[in-house]
Amino acid sequence: PDAADTASTTASVRLEGISKSFGNSYAVNNVSLDIQQGEFFSLLGPSGCGKTTLLRMLAGFETPDRGRVLIDGQDMTRVPPYERPVNMMFQSYALFPHMSVADNIAFGLKQTPMARGARNLRVTQMMELVQISPLAKRKPHQLSGGQRQRVALARALARHPRILLLDEPLGALDKKLREKTQFELVNIQERLGTTFIVVTHDQEEAMTMSSRIALMRDGQIEQLDAPRRLYEFPATRYAASFIGSINLFQARVLQQSGDEVRLACDQAGAELQVRSSEKMLPGMALTLAVRPEKVRLLAPGEQSPNQIRGRIKEIAYLGGVSIYHAELSSGKRVQFTQSNVQALAEQPLSWEQDVVLGWQPDSCSVLTE
Ligand code: ATP
Repeated sequence: PDAADTASTTASVRLEGISKSFGNSYAVNNVSLDIQQGEFFSLLGPSGCGKTTLLRMLAGFETPDRGRVLIDGQDMTRVPPYERPVNMMFQSYALFPHMSVADNIAFGLKQTPMARGARNLRVTQMMELVQISPLAKRKPHQLSGGQRQRVALARALARHPRILLLDEPLGALDKKLREKTQFELVNIQERLGTTFIVVTHDQEEAMTMSSRIALMRDGQIEQLDAPRRLYEFPATRYAASFIGSINLFQARVLQQSGDEVRLACDQAGAELQVRSSEKMLPGMALTLAVRPEKVRLLAPGEQSPNQIRGRIKEIAYLGGVSIYHAELSSGKRVQFTQSNVQALAEQPLSWEQDVVLGWQPDSCSVLTE
């Protein structure tokens, strides 16, 4: 690597205009991004959007048609997998069936020169880290799915890679175990300070674990943000609908003064307001997006800059919260949630009840296509 490479970045991983096609279609199309040392970074998106191909180019199992892969500032685009400071944990876990748990974990270490004592110590430490010490002598077929997942993780971490790539690491686990393991993965990652790059199609999983998420669509990055920003300020309709539920309104710009934008909206049957620093001309059509939990039931006489009237048509009780659908006079349905702790103290809502709903201009966003 020349000096310019090293000087150009301190990022753990830098992708510069990476593309990869199979046949005549792009799996990954001109992706650039930086991932910092110690990040828990997720590649999120639906099946076929190119997540795995991107991960495999980081690992060195695929070579990009165009662009460069830099790791710790060094050009690794054409460096083979075993010479990269990177390890990968596969979705299938790929454990050796005839080897014990301890031997599976030790296997990766046998390729590196290391005294037997040091190797055994490392294996013991790794088993402690993922809490499988009592299972050391078992074979993979004597383990549960969750235990196998831990063995695979311990094996992938044993060589102390600077970067660990995980392809759907929790995909084989049931919902309950998956939720528990999400927290454990984050714990382990924080303790080690290793950069984790995870591929997942599960938005909740990505939201729970990641410092940042790259949401992918058709081989490109649609939006790259911290989970909270991606959720609260999705930039496009695609991003808004992929993550959680959201209410969308078709609207037209009436007037912008400063960052305050007034909108006409037939669907809402009211004027709406949003904040945006982007220049918006009167007459411009846009989509306004607001999350169900940002929509509040207004008390009688209470005013809000975004105020709509509707009638309750659906109620779903989920324990801690309830989800309501209110129908507006335009026929549009608006979803909102209410904490049941709060609702108990007040009046619970019932079917066919007329309600006035409102939300603040800074808790909704303007979407592009
Ligand atoms: P999934 O979640 O289903 O694994 P993904 O987002 O990881 O999907 P990729 O596996 O990266 O997507 O695939 C992206 C596109 O590239 C898909 O259209 C896929 O069919 C295609 N593709 C991937 N690998 C190959 C290959 N070796 N040969 C041909 N086409 C491929």
